Amino acid sequence: MRPVYLDNNATTRADPEVVQAMLPFFRDNFGNPSSTHDLGAAADVAASRARLQLQTLIGAELDHEIIFTSGGTESDNAAILSALDVLHDRTDIVISAVEHPAVLTLCAHLEKTQAVTVHKIPVDRHGRLDLDAYRAALTPRVAIVSIMWANNETGTIFPLGKLAELAKEVGAFFHTDAVQAVGKTPMDLKSTAIDMLSLSGHKLHGPKGIGALYVRRDVPFSSLIKGGRQERDRRAGTENTPGIVGLGMAAELALKSMNDVATRVKSLRDRLENGIVQAIQNATVTGDPLARLPNTANIAFDPIEAEAIVHLLNREGIACSSGSACTCGSLKQSHVLSAMKVAHSAVRFSLSRDNGEADVDRVLEVMPAIVQKLRDCPSPGADRVSAEDVQRNLASAAAEQAAAHEP
Ligand code: PLP
Repeated sequence: MRPVYLDNNATTRADPEVVQAMLPFFRDNFGNPSSTHDLGAAADVAASRARLQLQTLIGAELDHEIIFTSGGTESDNAAILSALDVLHDRTDIVISAVEHPAVLTLCAHLEKTQAVTVHKIPVDRHGRLDLDAYRAALTPRVAIVSIMWANNETGTIFPLGKLAELAKEVGAFFHTDAVQAVGKTPMDLKSTAIDMLSLSGHKLHGPKGIGALYVRRDVPFSSLIKGGRQERDRRAGTENTPGIVGLGMAAELALKSMNDVATRVKSLRDRLENGIVQAIQNATVTGDPLARLPNTANIAFDPIEAEAIVHLLNREGIACSSGSACTCGSLKQSHVLSAMKVAHSAVRFSLSRDNGEADVDRVLEVMPAIVQKLRDCPSPGADRVSAEDVQRNLASAAAEQAAAHEP
């Protein structure tokens, strides 16, 4: 059975060209970019090239507006903490209710440990930001607004240009977590009011453990990681040269494949959604129908727990994910779907340029029977089918089968 990978918002396969570009920087070109000898200079030149490749992808004005980090989480933390440090007389942060934990958890921590007020702006049933609540939260007390470019679960895209301009009116910094959007949608940062942007290598067919924070040239920045003078004093620590080179190559390839994602991958995604909605009753596509990433489908199959579907799809060799996260053995509802109040849980299929028609066909082939099976076996007395119920039912069915075959 050929595996089908439809979990590209979780992570992507590194492109073979990315891996190829990185290899020399583990072997022959292993120099430290800070060293003044030839080996060091070669590593420094490679990092400069990667900075240019990223600059081109996101439409930054200057290459040194890019700071390399360890990934999206670090970039998000660095942006928010920098703003609080630079604008230290301001106490408020504005975020959306559907941010990634990289932003939400940091903000919750800041609220607990510092004199910081966090305004979490609600979203509607399509995941669209409540603009009135956003405007009301913007006061001269706000140090930073951090709103994601696109949501990782539903793919809903926020109207960033407008949001950034409104933030500027009260003198706040505007940061966006664009980890899911970079490489999937065209960007021209120099023509926006966005001050800072986070991105991550492993979401765009690059390596894990590398990312970047874009900081517009006129934005004062306070480094999160203190130490040496790397990255123009903005991120201490010896650079991850292989990762940086891989990220640069991933950016170059992402730019080349942007059209493919916008057309072929989008039409695969649409075929998957339409096929499921037509074949399965009460399957609901979530997210903004008008402004959504081209690769993401988030579909609720109430009352079934998405985790149960993900589990059975996995047995068929299909990898996708659920909007509910399993913590300590109990299912925790997705904060994104909670904020949208549309469904209890949903299955996320996220495609990439690696996918083809056969992948979609395979899902459409197995999905109706999986959903039927789960809808047919609710646990007694329960008004909703939970993953635990399903696993219990499947385990007892397996035990019954085993007993029937005992000599
Ligand atoms: N922000 C968003 C929207 C994400 O989807 C992710 C990863 O899932 C992150 C941040 C964290 O990125 P990283 O894994 O590079 O730390």
